[in-house]
Parts: sequence; structure tokens; C-alpha cells
Amino acid sequence: VADIFSKEMRSIIMSKIKSKYNKLDMAVHNWLCGMKIRHKMYPKVSGSPDIVLLNGGKPLYLFIDGCFFHKCPKHYKRPKSNVSYWVRHIEIENVERDKKRETYPYEWLQIWEHEVRDGTFKYKIMDALREKDHG
Ligand SMILES: [Zn+2]
Repeated sequence: VADIFSKEMRSIIMSKIKSKYNKLDMAVHNWLCGMKIRHKMYPKVSGSPDIVLLNGGKPLYLFIDGCFFHKCPKHYKRPKSNVSYWVRHIEIENVERDKKRETYPYEWLQIWEHEVRDGTFKYKIMDALREKDHG
């Protein structure tokens, strides 16, 4: 098979393949453990969320989305090479799939890669759990 991808792109693809048990998921997992928030990694429900929080009441599912692959409004930049591939893959397929989340029969929360990196995901989760308990 001819290698149609550049080195840079190959490493992006490989990191996507290895995205199960990736660093972002693990950072959130470690924080949840530290906070003693009951949760489970990679629950098997539609849409493949990354984590489900099981702190009483209804479960809350978390999607931890990479800024590149999920077209973060703050950080997504269209790659300079293989543009048609990426437009189809990210700007059409991934964005469409993410839109389907609106139809999932469960409560969920989106967490961006940059929120994991800067730590603000913690407040997002705490707020969501507080709302869930009192709303
Ligand atoms: Zn971002």
C-alpha cells in the first residue's frame, strides 16, 4: 500500500487510533479518582462516550473531544495538505456524528481537549454534578 500521508499526518492518524486510553481521558480519570467521583471508563452506549459519572441519580456521560478532530471553535485549523481528506473526515463526518449527540437518550457533557489541558474541565464537571443534584 502506497504511503499517501505525510509523516506529520501519519502521526496524527496513529494518535487517533491510540486514542482509547489516551492522555486526555486519563487526566480526567485521575482527577475523578482523586475527587472520589464514581465513574466508569468507556461505557458501551450509543455514541461511545469516554466516561460515565455514576454519582447517584442519573448517569452523566462525558465526551472528551480533541480540538482538532472535533473541530473546536477556538483551535481547529484546516490542515494545509490533504485538504479534501480532512474536510470530509472532520468538517463533515465528525461534525455530523457529534450533532447526533443531541438525540442520545442520556445526559451528557462535552469536554474539550483545551479544557483538560488548562484544568477548566474540573469546574465544568462540578457545575454539571451540582445542577444534576439540585435541578
Ligand atoms: Zn480547543
